[in-house]
Amino acid sequence: MTPNSPRRREAGVPAPGLAWIEQALCAHSPRPDRWHPEQETEDTVYQACVWCAACPVADQCLATALAARRPVTGVWAGTTTRQRRRIRHRSADTPHAA
Ligand code: SF4
Repeated sequence: MTPNSPRRREAGVPAPGLAWIEQALCAHSPRPDRWHPEQETEDTVYQACVWCAACPVADQCLATALAARRPVTGVWAGTTTRQRRRIRHRSADTPHAA
């Protein structure tokens, strides 16, 4: 994810302006394309995940990705599109306490 990504806008993720986005390490990377490889494989997402591991706003990033109206693609908080799909399915299968 990068703050001005067209994918972010397409997914209905709130536009930049949220305070946490200013602290996003990917926003300061010289290679923002790393967060949006053509194909998400272990090799293509590795560098993005290294940056995400050190990012101070990873929790907010993941929460935003999971809350998007439509599933977002690319690396968000060190997770791939497939990993987030699994998280969504797992939480949908988990009974919530009343
Ligand atoms: S956790 Fe990764 S994708 Fe999310 S804001 Fe930070 S660097 Fe960007």
